[in-house]
Amino acid sequence: MFRCSEVADRAGRLIDGELSPWQRLNIRMHLAICRGCRAFIEQMRVTAELARRLNETEDPAVSEDVKAALRQRQMRAGHKT
Ligand SMILES: [Zn+2]
Repeated sequence: MFRCSEVADRAGRLIDGELSPWQRLNIRMHLAICRGCRAFIEQMRVTAELARRLNETEDPAVSEDVKAALRQRQMRAGHKT
């Protein structure tokens, strides 16, 4: 089973649907027992959803701070953007 650091490592790819079924299973098993990682993945999902909306619409209601933070996160994650 994955450790917390391994789950964190794969969170981005999990949300993008780029992990193998085996890796997803390992993460799911870890999430079943680890509240911290559940919260972390949930946070990642929210952030990813926000980022997607930003890319689609450039919503003016979203502050520049949030946009900057999201772009930084995407760069760190080595995203396609
Ligand atoms: Zn964990």
